[in-house]
Amino acid sequence: MCYGDVTGVISLELGAQAPGNYENTPEGYGCYGGVDYGARFVRIFIMDCFLKVYGCQMNAADSHLVSRLLADAGIREVSEPSEAQAVVLLTCSVRQHAEDRAWGFARTMRGLGKKVILAGCMGKLRGNELVREGAADFVLGPDEYRRIPDLLLGRDGSGQGNPESLETYGDLLPATTNSVSASVAVMRGCNNFCTYCVVPYARGPERSIAYPDLERQLRYLLDQGVKEIFLLGQNVLAYRHGDMKLIELLERAARLEGLDRLGFLTSHPRDLSCEMIRRMADIPQLLHFFHLPLQSASDRVLKQMRRGYGLAEYEEKIGWVRSAFPDVYLSTDLMVGFPGESEEDFELTLDAVRRIGFDFAYMFAYSERPGTKAADMAEKVPVAERKRRLAELIDRQNEVTRRRAEGLVGTEEEVFVAAPAPRGKGAMLAELKNYRPVILNHTARLGQRLQARLVGLRGRSIIAEPLAKEVA
Ligand code: SF4
Repeated sequence: MCYGDVTGVISLELGAQAPGNYENTPEGYGCYGGVDYGARFVRIFIMDCFLKVYGCQMNAADSHLVSRLLADAGIREVSEPSEAQAVVLLTCSVRQHAEDRAWGFARTMRGLGKKVILAGCMGKLRGNELVREGAADFVLGPDEYRRIPDLLLGRDGSGQGNPESLETYGDLLPATTNSVSASVAVMRGCNNFCTYCVVPYARGPERSIAYPDLERQLRYLLDQGVKEIFLLGQNVLAYRHGDMKLIELLERAARLEGLDRLGFLTSHPRDLSCEMIRRMADIPQLLHFFHLPLQSASDRVLKQMRRGYGLAEYEEKIGWVRSAFPDVYLSTDLMVGFPGESEEDFELTLDAVRRIGFDFAYMFAYSERPGTKAADMAEKVPVAERKRRLAELIDRQNEVTRRRAEGLVGTEEEVFVAAPAPRGKGAMLAELKNYRPVILNHTARLGQRLQARLVGLRGRSIIAEPLAKEVA
């Protein structure tokens, strides 16, 4: 029971039975978010829930699974926390900052009398502490999302789950939005144990989802009008189910009718092979986009990170990618201030950024994560020094990003209209074939493909003007 959480009490006199989530209450027969047409007088309880997502693309993809679970339970999602009786947070533990933000938000929501479920990586890693500190009513790991509706609706009063359970959610169809782009997690977990990273502890070992389940999810998204799909995994190149590896998965997915654009994230450089790249180049729908996290260009630091490759191997693989995809849009992750990183190590990373010429980089200062090997390493780089190196790295990458974008001005390209532009009325966010984002200075239908001229830069963003011709 959860009387404190119900709203919208209406009475009906109707005559047929419809699906819903029913519960006997002292006042009669209650229905959460559904309508029990069989009862003479029915109280309809609608729970409104706000879902807040922190962190990576995996969490964003998970949020669509949670939305599906909420909708199936008749729980309504609202766009503002002020409209909700309950709040579900999908949290991230990759950096301290993300944890602090989630913790603060949970406390604020509890202070406002809302039921709070804190789920995801932070729930798995810091569950006991969060409960002890009263930050949330319930705390769940990333493999316990199926419990969310029952906890919200008061049907699971014990609060006892199994934090060690392992899930793939392969049977769930993700909830869709109006977007023409979507992501599907094809595997969960990671076996790599890079020394700075909490993911293997938070999300458990690698598990890949069987192709028939994935095809069902992909077909569902395509039926809803999605045109571009990313296949996700913490280490997606390690996808393996039976005899099927990622390359076969990409080849089969690309044959599904209605799929225009196909991508994959995130790749561990160690697992990228020449043969895989060669076969990828034969997939017409595949985006010419590679996200290959380098982290550091110092072999000494990479070894300490347990990344399993050196700079020379990384650059050789970039060479393979560039010869198969000359127009590749290349992005990376870079971390500065890892324990023991010297000024010389850092300089190597700065040099590599210019030499390799990344189009984009996610850049971070090392953040100590309790329980990881790196947290116990002695030679900590002072926080102020980490910040200084990060600022210098950002300046270097911005210069490279801008130079690479400038090189495209004046060319004509096909663009895919992905979303309304976040700023700028009448403009759209579009993507080149290699996933490079551009601002299209015109309104256009979502999912439309147009020929456009890249006319200039605004900051580091490329501005495109449509030519008359519509491609598809
Ligand atoms: S590959 Fe390394 S950095 Fe990436 S999720 Fe796995 S352990 Fe973390």
